[in-house]
Order: sequence, then structure tokens, then C-alpha cells
Amino acid sequence: MTRTINSALAVLTALITVLTLSIFVLPMNCGKAEAASALPTSGTKNITGTYVISSDCVLPKGATLYVKKGGRLYIREGVDVTLNGTLKIAAGGAVYVKGNIISSKDSLISNTGRLKIQQVGCLSLGGTLRVNKGGMVYGQGTLKVLNSFSDISCKGSVTVKIKAPEPVTKDGVTTVGGVIIVNRQFSLPEDYGSGLDKDTYSAFLKMKEASGYDMTIVSGFRSYEKQKSTFEYWASIDGWEQADRYSAQPGHSEHQTGLAMDITSLKQSYGDTAEGKWLAQHCWEYGFLLRYPKGGEDITGYIYEPWHVRYLGKSTAKLVHDSGLTLEEFLGVA
Ligand SMILES: [Zn+2]
Repeated sequence: MTRTINSALAVLTALITVLTLSIFVLPMNCGKAEAASALPTSGTKNITGTYVISSDCVLPKGATLYVKKGGRLYIREGVDVTLNGTLKIAAGGAVYVKGNIISSKDSLISNTGRLKIQQVGCLSLGGTLRVNKGGMVYGQGTLKVLNSFSDISCKGSVTVKIKAPEPVTKDGVTTVGGVIIVNRQFSLPEDYGSGLDKDTYSAFLKMKEASGYDMTIVSGFRSYEKQKSTFEYWASIDGWEQADRYSAQPGHSEHQTGLAMDITSLKQSYGDTAEGKWLAQHCWEYGFLLRYPKGGEDITGYIYEPWHVRYLGKSTAKLVHDSGLTLEEFLGVA
């Protein structure tokens, strides 16, 4: 009798174990299979209502997920969506990311609607992100740039935290996501540079025309040798320590990149003139950044220079401008 009860108990225990296990294991597997099969393997899947991705899945190359007007796509926390194809978000469509979107090299995200990256969410960008006019990438989450900032074209707005890739130094030149960085920490080789960059100059001409002011380039490209004599000149007037606050050591001047310019006046009062104010407010629209803002000396290494602009190209300049950060902070090298 006792034996029967014992074996009945054993059977019961085994049954409970199997049931408990299946509760934990089975729904996960089912969920995975469902979501994966729900994504298109080719062609386009239109999302017009609410669509939730609650387990890891892959959108293959050649396939498109199209969130149309009124459509809502949710990616649950902890879920990885690998994007090898295209994710399109129409105006009036929205994607909410609590998990991760991992976009591969050939993938495309084209956003005219809203892409909200929630605090715990992340978009790891290896492909192209096109933020079209009216499109928004926002939220408290992270946009992790894997390769280059030029993978992002930005006509709308991007206000999430942008995590830059690691600095890469090649032949003595350091870049972060394709953006050259030159400051007190990062220098250029003696023989680097051969004049003002062509794109920088034509962007300047466009900006000058749009401003309506008679902007002049006081100083554009400066070679290593020229910077050496420039610094020595200022040091002879103001003393080495004072000169070091506003004039760079040879190899450490952004002017040697051919992407930087001093405009119109080298006086801090230039920032209070109508032209200086216009420059500060609008230069990003033409691809420039006011490189040494007021109060930024501890980060940039230089005092407020309302005349010094650095060319970044339109998309990157817009991203830096929208972030409200200095270039050092934006590139993660502060
Ligand atoms: Zn300058």
C-alpha cells in the first residue's frame, strides 16, 4: 500500500515537473516560431494596425517591413530584430523599440514617421538610416553607430543618445565614424593637408550668400609649419601660457585638416554682432559647427571662438547641432 502511494506520488511529481518545464519552455519556442514566420521572407509586409514582435527574428535581404499610416510596430524588451532588408515607416506610422534593432551593412531604414527608441532599447546601425523630412528618431534609448556617421542622412530629427564608434588612428590621422578629430589630444602628421577642402569652400560660399553678410575667410588652411610660426608669434606677444589657450600647437590645429575656417573677425565680440549671431544660429544648415562654444573650454580645450567653424557635412552637422553637444562629447572622446 505504502509502495503504491509512493509510486503514485513519483508519477505525480514527474507529471508536475514536465508541466512546469513545458510552461517555461514551450511558449518561448512557440512565440519564436510565430514571430519569425510572421516576418516576410521576401516581398513586402504591410503593417496597418498593431503588430508586436515578442521574440528574436530576422528580416532577410530583399524583404520589406512597411509600417503604413496608422500602423504601430512594437519590439518588446530583450528581443533582437536583425535587419538585412528594409524597414520603411510612412508618415503617420510608428515603431516603438524596447528591444534591439540590429541593422546589417546592406539594410535600410527609411523613416518618414516616428521611430521611438525607448530607454532600454537600442538601434545598432550597420546599414543606412534615412530620416526623411518630417521623420523623427527620438526617445531615451541609444542609437549605436557601428561604422560611419555618413550612414545617416538626416532631413528630419534625431534626438536619441548617439553612441559613436571607437576612434581609429591610421597613418597618424584619427577618425571617429569617418569624422576627423584634431584637438589637444589628437594630432595630425607634419606632412598632412594641402589646402582648404573643396566641399568646405563651396559650403562656405553657399552660407555666405544665404546670410546676406559680407563674410570673409580670415584664416582657412594652415600647414604644420605655418601653425608653428603662428603659435610662436602669439607666444611672443601674450606669453606661452596665454597663447596656449587660444592658439594650437603645431599638429594640433584643426586648420591643418583643411576643414576649418576663421570667419570675419578674431574678436570674441564678433559673437555679439548680427553676423556672428547669424553664424552661430545657422551654420549647421550648411554643414558647419561652431567648434569652440562659450563655456566649453574644459571640454574642447579652447576658449570661446565665435569665428571658428568646422565643416562636417550637412547630415553630421545636423546631428551634432541637434544633440547640443561639443564635437568631443558627440564623438565620445571628451
Ligand atoms: Zn580657427
